[in-house]
Amino acid sequence: MTFRKDGELVLDALEGFAAGAQRRDSPVLEQPPLAQLSRDLDLVGLIRHGGLQGARLERFLGDYLSASTKLGHPRYMAHQVAAPIPQSALAALIDGFTNNAMAIYEMGPAAAAVEAVVVAWMREKVGWAPTKGAGGGVLTHGGSLANLTALLAARARIAPQAWEEGSPADLVLVCSPASHYSIARAAGIMGLGQRAVHHAPADKLGRMDPAKLSTFLTGLRDEGRTPLAVVALAGSTALGLYDPLREIAMVCRDHGVWLHVDGAHGASALVSVRLRGLLDGIELAQSVVWDAHKMLGSSTLCAAVLVADAQALDHAFSEEASYLFHDKDQPGFDSIHWTVECTKAALGLKVFFAVACEGEGAIASTIERQTDLAHAAAALLRDKPGIEIAAVPQSNIVCFRLEGPDELQLELRRRLTRDGAFYISTAEALGKRWLRLALMSPATRIDDVDALVGELYRLRDEL
Ligand SMILES: *Cc1c(COP(=O)(O)O)cnc(C)c1O
Repeated sequence: MTFRKDGELVLDALEGFAAGAQRRDSPVLEQPPLAQLSRDLDLVGLIRHGGLQGARLERFLGDYLSASTKLGHPRYMAHQVAAPIPQSALAALIDGFTNNAMAIYEMGPAAAAVEAVVVAWMREKVGWAPTKGAGGGVLTHGGSLANLTALLAARARIAPQAWEEGSPADLVLVCSPASHYSIARAAGIMGLGQRAVHHAPADKLGRMDPAKLSTFLTGLRDEGRTPLAVVALAGSTALGLYDPLREIAMVCRDHGVWLHVDGAHGASALVSVRLRGLLDGIELAQSVVWDAHKMLGSSTLCAAVLVADAQALDHAFSEEASYLFHDKDQPGFDSIHWTVECTKAALGLKVFFAVACEGEGAIASTIERQTDLAHAAAALLRDKPGIEIAAVPQSNIVCFRLEGPDELQLELRRRLTRDGAFYISTAEALGKRWLRLALMSPATRIDDVDALVGELYRLRDEL
C-alpha cells in the first residue's frame, strides 16, 4: 500500500513539475550551491535515519523538483536531451520495478523481445534488412559507449588479433574535425592513443570533404598507417550539420575502409520522410550509432549500435564468463556478447513506450517541427543587428554570436544562466565561440527566441 500511496504522491508531484515547466515566467533552471541543496534536501539525515515516505517524501520531492532543470520549458534551449514523452518515463518505472537486467535472455525475456524489435525498426529506417530473430545491433547506455562498441567491431574486422595481442601500432581513426569527444576517448580506451586520431579534410563549415578524402586516406597508407575506420557525422554536436554520407561511403568502399556514422543526434531524422534525405547513403555504412534519448522523445538513456553485417558485433568482444556463457536452451538471445555492460537496463522499453504511445508519424512531426523552428530561428537571428549565425541549420541546432570577442559570448551565457529565465549552451566551432540553441522542447516558439535576443541585448548593454 505504501508503494501505491507514495507512487501517487510522485505522480502528482511530477504533474505539477510538468505544468510549472510550461510557465514562461518561471525559471528554466536554478543552481543553488551543492552544500546548501544537500542540506535543504536533508540527504545525509535521510540516509542515516530513513523515513522517505508519505509526507516526508512529498516535502522532499518539492525540494528536489524545484532544483531540477526543466527540459520541457519553452525557454529550455541548451542540451541535446529529450524532454521525454511522459509514457517513456513510465517505462523507466516499469524497468526499475522489474529490474530485468537483460544481459542474458533468461534475465528478461520481455525486455529482450522489445529490444530486438526496436533494433529491427531502427535497422529498417537505416535501410538494412531486419535480422532473423535478433542481432545486427544492440542497445547500450549512451552514444559514447555505442561509439566505442562500433569501433571495437571495426577493429575486430581489420585486426582480429587485437583482442589477444593489443592494438597494432599502425591503426588510426579518421574522423570529421567536428566529431564528438567520445571518438577520441574511444581511441584512448582502445589503446590507439590520441595521436592515432586524424581529422579528415573539411569544407568551410567543418563537414568532411569527400573530394579530398581519397587522397587523405592514400597519404595515411603511404605513411604506413592503416585506417581502422572513417567516422562521419550525421549531426555534428556543435552545429548539427550532416557530413555527405553517400560520397564518403563511396570513397570508403574504394579504400576498403569501415565507415562508421555517428548519428547519435541526427539519425532520428531517418524517421521523417521529409528529412531522411539528410542521411542519404547511410545504408552504405558498416556501423551506425543512434541515440533515442535525444530526438526520439525517450527518457535517458538509450543508444543503439547498428551494424550492416549482423555478425560484426559477435567479434567486438571475445571474452568468456563461464557462469553466463555456456551451452543452454536458447529461446531468445544474450545481448551480453555485444556490449561493454554486463548488467543492463531494459533500454528498449523507454524508446518503445515513446514511439508506441505517439506512433512514428507523430515522432516524425515533432522532429520536423523542431527543425523548422531552427530554420525560423536562424532567419530571425540573421536579421538582427550585430548578430552572426554560424551556418544555416540542418537539424534543430542553431549557433550564433553577438559582435564581439569569444569572452563576450561566455559572459552573456554566464549571466543568462545565473538569471535562469533562459537556458542555452555554447560551443566552439570553426575557430570561434558561439552561443548555441538545441531546440529540444516542443513548447518553444519563435517568440521565445525573439525574447532571448532581447534579453541578450539587454545583458550586453549592462556590461
Ligand atoms: C550526444 C552525442 C554523443 C554522445 O552520446 P551520449 O548518449 O551523450 O553518450 C556522441 N556523438 C554525437 C554526435 C552526439 O551528438
